[in-house]
Amino acid sequence: MAVDDDPITTLIIEDSLAHRFHVDIVSSGEQALQIFEQLSPDLILLDVLMQGMDGFEVCTALRSHSKGQTLPVVMLTSQDDIDSIEHAYEVGATDFIAKPINTALIAHRLCYLLRAHATLKALGRQERQLAAAQRIAKLGHWEFDPAQGRFQCAEAARELLNLPHQPQGFSLHQVLAQVHPRERAQVEQRLLSLDLAQRPPVQFEHRLCSGTRVLRQNVEYSSEVGGWLGTVQDVTTMHRSAQRIIKLAYYDQVTGLPNRDFFLEYLQRRLDQGGGAEICVLVVEIDALKRVGIGWGQAVTEPLVRDLSRRLMADMDIVALEAPLPSPQAWSLEQPQLLARISDAAFALLSTAHSQACHRLTQRLLTALSQPLAVAGIDLPITAKVGLSDALDCDEDANILLHHALAAAATACLIADKVQTYHRDLDNGERSRLTLEARLRRAINQQELELWYQPKIDGCNGKLIGAEGLVRWRDPNEGLIPPGHFIPLAEETGLIVPLTNRVLDLVCADLRLMHAPGLSPVKISVNISAAQLDDERLPEGIAQRLSSAGLSPQDLELEITERALMARLDSVLGTLTALHTLGIRLSLDDFGTGYSSLGYLGRFPIDELKIDQSFVRDLGTDAAGETVVRAIVALARGLGLYVIAEGIETLEQATWLCNNGCERHQGYLYSRPLERDAFLQLLDKRAPPPPWSALRCPSALCN
Ligand code: C2E
Ligand code: CA
Ligand code: CA
Repeated sequence: MAVDDDPITTLIIEDSLAHRFHVDIVSSGEQALQIFEQLSPDLILLDVLMQGMDGFEVCTALRSHSKGQTLPVVMLTSQDDIDSIEHAYEVGATDFIAKPINTALIAHRLCYLLRAHATLKALGRQERQLAAAQRIAKLGHWEFDPAQGRFQCAEAARELLNLPHQPQGFSLHQVLAQVHPRERAQVEQRLLSLDLAQRPPVQFEHRLCSGTRVLRQNVEYSSEVGGWLGTVQDVTTMHRSAQRIIKLAYYDQVTGLPNRDFFLEYLQRRLDQGGGAEICVLVVEIDALKRVGIGWGQAVTEPLVRDLSRRLMADMDIVALEAPLPSPQAWSLEQPQLLARISDAAFALLSTAHSQACHRLTQRLLTALSQPLAVAGIDLPITAKVGLSDALDCDEDANILLHHALAAAATACLIADKVQTYHRDLDNGERSRLTLEARLRRAINQQELELWYQPKIDGCNGKLIGAEGLVRWRDPNEGLIPPGHFIPLAEETGLIVPLTNRVLDLVCADLRLMHAPGLSPVKISVNISAAQLDDERLPEGIAQRLSSAGLSPQDLELEITERALMARLDSVLGTLTALHTLGIRLSLDDFGTGYSSLGYLGRFPIDELKIDQSFVRDLGTDAAGETVVRAIVALARGLGLYVIAEGIETLEQATWLCNNGCERHQGYLYSRPLERDAFLQLLDKRAPPPPWSALRCPSALCN
């Protein structure tokens, strides 16, 4: 838009610009103000001297109009009229062009001006967007000149810090006054100790005075500022979520104490820090809590646990952690003590006292627990076990240190004062037990168990009459593990139940193979552990397995040790009777070692006595042992039972047994336990006779 009342000038302007721009000619200032909004020009050429309103007045009016504030306005002045040029600048003109107009250059001049204006506009837009984005992110920035001790805050930062409007900036003191009193000194220290070479930016968080909002500061040295450049962000919401996560992950929900994960992570930091000799861990296991939990449930235990944790804290001078709750990584390494609830019925205390002082601590702890617990109207005495360990022996591993204290606590019940300090011997047994248990559990699931078969022979004619299934564990790393290494542990831990189920599955599958055409199947026996005889579901489980494999109960025999039977005389009668009724044969294993009373023996549905190997070993050398074997054979006869001897290694033993009425034999003399496939070959009707059939028993009775 060109505004001039001189038709010659407007003609020249139009002529020299028309090839690049669309030009609207307006002949007075008043008219220009009337229509500029409607025309919406990109630039205004404005003559200074006009009838009516002059160019200065028009420019002033434009600048006060909302649409005209940033519009490029170029004044047309006369040559050398410095006053007009000055005046034009004062009323806000963007630039000036002196008359007479240089027609060759004016179009180029305007192009440059328009480009500069477009850049300015883009910059303004970016600034506004940035401000909006910062507002959304609750983010602002500030500068701090340490030499002057002055802060300059951008608007957003000023609002976040709750500072008043103050164009000259703020003193450090004014800014710090906005910080929560408990964190003020720390923030000041951080700001004043910032290091020029600090990269990446330093980050810290603090609360505001009110305590309700949390700000995060990121500070970096800026050479442009000649001091610190910082951003401040309101992270209250994020902080709340983080607190919630920390609380759930690292704190016990009942007592508010740190939990096991907190304890371990913090302990690890302390150990990493070095000086481990001064760290000791104390575990208190409270048996009463377990019993209350079982008897009354959670609603009753929770208040008790809270009561106990209060007692322990009071006695150990431990103050509860306050919000904001620290994570184990953030908690100060200077703490002398940490009390945590590490499981339902156990607390752990980390202390920096040496072990002597720890013992005194333990006594205080036990005193704190000497008052009984009031549960549902009864006073329940607290039985606590305390385990102690110090960092000297733990390879600086928090897990191991805690494990030591737990292992010590586990054995503490065996000693009178219920406090046990960890020593190596304690642990070796316990640790290898724990790993073995875990490995065995996996082995059962991953089918690492297999059954081997040891033939049972008729000693007179060398015929195969049966076999005993003996379990083996084929560990991928350690190879074949004999049952003596894991059966006792399985019995102790209850793993014997899934283990036996697995053995029964294996024996059923193998029995099916033995019933294939061309093979002569024999009765197979498996060993059943004492603990399982109490299980009323055992007979049904076996019956189900047999029937779903299409097998008959006559195919299976169970070996039960005499000792197991004697320990449970009354409780197992039902189970044994049920098994017997099903048609499964029962053999009393290791017979002669369990001091059976003959009276009882007659009451049980037993089919066979299996003479223990210890008697067989000494046949021919030990007269007392021979008497026992003779007596067992006579007893079996009297009760109408089969009798078999195991552990036969020599022909002399075999002959002696045949001569004394025991023809059923099992032992290395005939065969060691065989892998399934090797055993299946023995059953093959076309197979050559087994090596033992060449053994000639010299017994007169056999021939
Ligand atoms: P056991 O039932 O008394 O089994 C006989 C053990 O004596 C077997 O050892 C067998 O290999 C061994 N043996 C056989 N003949 C001779 C011999 O002539 N001389 C010598 N010195 N030893 C002989 P194994 O297989 O190591 O089994 C040991 C024990 O593990 C078994 O004693 C049994 O109590 C238990 N066991 C084995 N398999 C199972 C199972 O599947 N379940 C349960 N619950 N226990 C099992
Ligand atoms: Ca056996
Ligand atoms: Ca045996």
